[in-house]
Amino acid sequence: MPTTHPETRAAEPGPDEPNALSTDTLGVQTSTTQQSPVAATVTTRPDAPTGSGTFVFDFADGNKDLKDLLGGKGANLAEMTNLGLPVPPGFTITTDACRWFLLHDEEPTELAVQMEEHLSRMESRLGRTLGDADDPLLLSVRSGAKFSMPGMMETVLNVGLNDASVEGLATHSGDPRFAWDSYRRLVQMFGKTVLGIDGARFEERLDAKKAAHGSTNDLSLDADDLRALVAEYKDVVRAETGRDFPQDPREQLSMAVLAVFRSWNTDRARLYRRQEKIPDDLGTAVNVMAMVFGNLGDNSGTGVAFTRDPASGRPGSYGDYLEKAQGEDVVAGIRNTLSLDDLARIDPASHTELQRIMHVLESHYKDLCDIEFTIERGRLWMLQTRVGKRTAAAAFRIAVQLVDEGVIDMDTAVTRVNGHQLAKLMFPQFDPKADRTLLATGMAASPGAAVGRAAFTSETAIEWAANGDDVILVRRETNPDDLGGMVASRGVLTSRGGKTSHAAVVARGMGRTCVVGVEALRVDPKHHEVTTTDGRRFAEGDVISIDGTNGEVYLGAVPVSPSPVAEVLRGETLDGRIDADEHELLDAVQRIMDHADARRRMGVRANADTPDDAAKARGFGASGVGLCRTEHMFLGSRRGIVERLILARTPDARNAALQELLPLQREDFVGILEAMDGLPVVIRLLDPPLHEFLPDFTTLSVKVAVAEALGKRDAEAEELLRQVQRLHEQNPMLGTRGVRLGLVVPDLFQLQVQAIAEASARLKKAGKDPRPEIMVPLIATVEELVVIRHESEKTLARVATETGVDLHIPIGTMIELPRAAMTAAQIAEEADFFSFGTNDMTQTVWGFSRDDVEAAFFPQYMEHGIFSVSPFESIDVAGVGRVVGIAAWEGKEVKPDLTVGVCGEHGGDPDSIHFFESIAIDYVSCSPFRVPVARLEAGRASILGSTQVASDTR
Ligand code: ADP
Ligand code: MG
Ligand code: MG
Repeated sequence: MPTTHPETRAAEPGPDEPNALSTDTLGVQTSTTQQSPVAATVTTRPDAPTGSGTFVFDFADGNKDLKDLLGGKGANLAEMTNLGLPVPPGFTITTDACRWFLLHDEEPTELAVQMEEHLSRMESRLGRTLGDADDPLLLSVRSGAKFSMPGMMETVLNVGLNDASVEGLATHSGDPRFAWDSYRRLVQMFGKTVLGIDGARFEERLDAKKAAHGSTNDLSLDADDLRALVAEYKDVVRAETGRDFPQDPREQLSMAVLAVFRSWNTDRARLYRRQEKIPDDLGTAVNVMAMVFGNLGDNSGTGVAFTRDPASGRPGSYGDYLEKAQGEDVVAGIRNTLSLDDLARIDPASHTELQRIMHVLESHYKDLCDIEFTIERGRLWMLQTRVGKRTAAAAFRIAVQLVDEGVIDMDTAVTRVNGHQLAKLMFPQFDPKADRTLLATGMAASPGAAVGRAAFTSETAIEWAANGDDVILVRRETNPDDLGGMVASRGVLTSRGGKTSHAAVVARGMGRTCVVGVEALRVDPKHHEVTTTDGRRFAEGDVISIDGTNGEVYLGAVPVSPSPVAEVLRGETLDGRIDADEHELLDAVQRIMDHADARRRMGVRANADTPDDAAKARGFGASGVGLCRTEHMFLGSRRGIVERLILARTPDARNAALQELLPLQREDFVGILEAMDGLPVVIRLLDPPLHEFLPDFTTLSVKVAVAEALGKRDAEAEELLRQVQRLHEQNPMLGTRGVRLGLVVPDLFQLQVQAIAEASARLKKAGKDPRPEIMVPLIATVEELVVIRHESEKTLARVATETGVDLHIPIGTMIELPRAAMTAAQIAEEADFFSFGTNDMTQTVWGFSRDDVEAAFFPQYMEHGIFSVSPFESIDVAGVGRVVGIAAWEGKEVKPDLTVGVCGEHGGDPDSIHFFESIAIDYVSCSPFRVPVARLEAGRASILGSTQVASDTR
């Protein structure tokens, strides 16, 4: 299973914890380490923990690169400590200790001893002891895994308070309210987190106390209220657990540490990791640090801040501050927060210090940082930092700002953004200025903005779409029977299911906009309506709009505007239509793309079957067509000719049909070669089985039967039906298709070769520079290629003679069957180029057909963690990737100048592109819209690859 490339991860939301695979800002996991070309291997898991060694690190002994061992929070606390920033003293218990505990259900014996040593050292340094009845040292016990899992695991504040030390704290601080507030927080957090008591038991008592003052504000409670509340809380603990709240501070501490260990394995944490593709066996570290108090009197408070605006990327710090508050109060929204400007007024000295520290952090991490801080009686303390998450737009802007500020170079800037972010910026969006009525919000499962009439069944969706309506398929959840409806719809909306549900997986696979799990919606197909939990409704047929980027569902049609980023990437000028912010974003995207292009080794071509698509791809920066499929050229109005070809009884009839097709094919190729003038166009000879060009069996049978019943037999239809029956295949994917068809019906391939040759000759005569390449599909053995090549060369020579034009057209092959890959050295002798068809290769290496399995069992496979991502979406490095790597390597060994490309969807997938870079593929080819994504990722892959090499040789 792919894991994240350390470098790439750093480029994403934030090096330290960003959820590698978080979907909102960054989207992605990028999955490659440098692979040896032949032996692509699965990335390693951490070693099993051992029961001895160092389990506890003082903050002064760690650093930011020790995230595996100390977790993101611990590693960065250590880094800040060593930068000389004001961090309360503390220590980190390693992920090894956690993993040992989770495996053996007991802590490693040395842990308690080491903790005691570190604790005593802290006590003597601070001159205070844990649980002291006069002036107690209090601690926070905080979870912190390698990748941040917001809200998933636990933190306990104010550990060390008990019935005695709370009095000492009250006297010593001169603030009894503060002391009792801290104690009630401890009992509450400890009760919930460590003892597993339902948090509502505490909340309801807190609310009742506030209500008694006619208030909802916690500041309305005085010391006596809080003292009474603590007594009630302790009753709750006794009633719920059958024992008293532990008074021994050391017992509190060790119970809290174990609770944090255990929180790694709660259901919600596991679910979160599965969704974010974080391995299950990393474990969490635990940070134990001295408390500082934002709830202590007037000149105290707590806050969070970003060194730049993480939403827009605008420079200038940005944050929220809350006076007389502790811990999560800021983000929990218990009171309205103040801005950093407000803080500048209230406490100018702390504000200045905060700005200075933010500057230090940005220069040190060379990136946007987010921080947690607390001010205790006018003294500023840093409690957390990490490289902050940001939106896609902010990622581009910030990367370029940092270059202009001289903080990073362009190479680094390119690694700070990724293809998923670029793709997000390229999707059409709902016009941000348009009015809209938000109905509900669910999970963003597949991006885009879709508007259409709500259809509650697949049949309805198909019917309305056939009438030309835009449709959104609305279901409780989808199942394999909904496939047709999903294909017919602009978007898919479900009230149940998560990001790995059937709807989500399939919609992503087909590129449909999709929102899932909108729990506020009740879909009632019987009454043809949807109601919301807050009593609103819409009926089947009403127009709705869904945003697959943020999961929002709107009533009515929200106007969709094209993405300015996509327009600019296609070479359009937008002057006058955009504001300064957008202008800065577009400029940043351009500069990053230019640099990625300058640095990338791999070429990027497009899969394009029509002159329009080819022109679009060229606009998006494609350096050629890597795959021009010819099958669509045999459909539509030409179906009749193909039918005649198949039904032909005599060579003359057959020839007549072919001659009818020839000029049409020639025009097809003239069009596409002209659009790509001067650039290579790889034309694949006909690939699918013949019956795909014939009418549907059932329809035809009905037609024949009806005619018969009416006594008017239709001889032509009957013959066609016989042919359809004859050509019917049990397993068309493994049937008479590709080169096999070309050998069974040789005229067909040679018709195509002749059309390619004649189109080139004509363009050359007109002074153009056509560069077609002929690609033979589905080769399994070199002998097949030898035969086709021989015939094709004869055809090319004939056209050259007839037209008097020199025609040197390369002939190569798709490598998409395991046998072809394993005999690549032989095939390379006869091929001018290889192109890996990774879709078919995935099907044949795994032995399943995409159409049959994707909806059938992929969702369950994702659920079980067998797939972290569909192998059709992102290349299976260990299996399919290895096959491709071996074939590319052996092909080039025989023929060093063999051009080796990849076509198929993997060519536009960021993770796969990094893998293709690692096995020295020459170019990738993807759909025109993905071309910019592939350009960017190919650039990043070159840069990251060379960084890797540089550090390996150092
Ligand atoms: P999370 O990872 O969910 O943010 P944290 O471990 O950061 O959880 O802690 C929760 C809250 O408690 C944060 O607001 C943090 O700033 C605060 N906090 C943690 N340790 C201390 C401490 N030693 N003194 C004061 N506040 C703290
Ligand atoms: Mg935090
Ligand atoms: Mg194929």
